[in-house]
Amino acid sequence: MRGDCLRGFLGRLGMRPIYLDGLATTPVDPQVLAAMLPYFSDRPGNPSNRGHAYGWEAAAAIDVARETIAAAIHAHPEEIIFTSGATEANNLAIKGVAEAYHSRGRHIITVQTEHNAVLAPCRYLESLGFRVTYLGVNEKGFIDLAELEQAFTPETLLVSVMAANNEIGVLQPLAEIGRRCRDRGVLFHTDAAQALGKIPLDVQALQVDLMSLTAHKLYGPKGIGALYVRRDRPRVQLAPQLHGGPQEQGWRSGTLATPLIVGFGAAVQLAQERQATDIPYLWHLKERLWQGLVSLGDIYLNGDWQQSLPNCLNVSIAGVDGNVLLRSIYPYVALSTGAACSSEKPTPSHVLLALGRSPTLARASLRFGLLRTTTEADIDTALEQIGRSIWQLRHSK
Ligand SMILES: *Cc1c(COP(=O)(O)O)cnc(C)c1O
Repeated sequence: MRGDCLRGFLGRLGMRPIYLDGLATTPVDPQVLAAMLPYFSDRPGNPSNRGHAYGWEAAAAIDVARETIAAAIHAHPEEIIFTSGATEANNLAIKGVAEAYHSRGRHIITVQTEHNAVLAPCRYLESLGFRVTYLGVNEKGFIDLAELEQAFTPETLLVSVMAANNEIGVLQPLAEIGRRCRDRGVLFHTDAAQALGKIPLDVQALQVDLMSLTAHKLYGPKGIGALYVRRDRPRVQLAPQLHGGPQEQGWRSGTLATPLIVGFGAAVQLAQERQATDIPYLWHLKERLWQGLVSLGDIYLNGDWQQSLPNCLNVSIAGVDGNVLLRSIYPYVALSTGAACSSEKPTPSHVLLALGRSPTLARASLRFGLLRTTTEADIDTALEQIGRSIWQLRHSK
């Protein structure tokens, strides 16, 4: 295969593809790494151990991270439950609420374009007898608030709608959803894995009761995240999904991962400090990328331009096979067609199908995830390679 040959050739030259898959994951920022390192070695204390200085210093470092993360979403530090990431946070929120409140009702509302870490727990609850409504989206990826209102029943316990979509970057109207949930006394969960650090998140203003977060989409380490759980008006109850020690108020047992939590806190801190420069810069790169792609012809934007993440651009390309295109691009540019976890499968993205894209156009999609370290030269080189690949594929028939 031509791509494999090139990969081998470029590999021997020590050249690696330009990384534009920042929605799958991001590299750890050097400052974040520096903050974490002492907690792997010199400061090994167990934060639950209050008997000696090693335990205290670990606990103090976790307190700082917890305060930083809470402040970033306008929450109280006690409302932050550390988990292994957003997958676990989503599971804890959805299954934890279902189990704690099932005597009040057994209905959940979510959306067809959610991440699998929301959809799969919902399907699991269906197997236990819960009823789940999967709201559709319009051609840009937004839910219809009237459809949401019609979906509520007296049995509805929870609404779960993501803040920012991980494939097309679309931002759902959280404040409008939050108000409708609060009016009806229904809990509102949002998966904000992609949104943290990219858009303002205020759990008070948005009337969010549970919010899933993760560090590795934000230049923090993999394997750490958090669930925000409202403790006041209403005080949310959860059934723990891990049983063991008393950590995290008994809601999530297990020794806290001090180095990872310190890294998570440092990543959030850095994102806040850099927001004013990073966000306009990412929009600038996205604009440059889009203009370059448009000039190749027959390119469609998946999602919405206005209400979207600054670091995400998803396009469909007419007249080419998506998998062949990716294979010809891979040696030069690392990106994906959709969610990282499903990019190996030939089935088109469930998100693009929900927008009404044809399976052919859905398969011929490219998802760009820009980083704060991406340069204009990276964009131009990527455009050159992608342009060449598309031209060859369109003319090889
Ligand atoms: C990445 C991602 C997840 C999974 O997060 P992990 O921390 O890798 O478990 C969940 N939801 C969305 C929207 C994501 O982008």
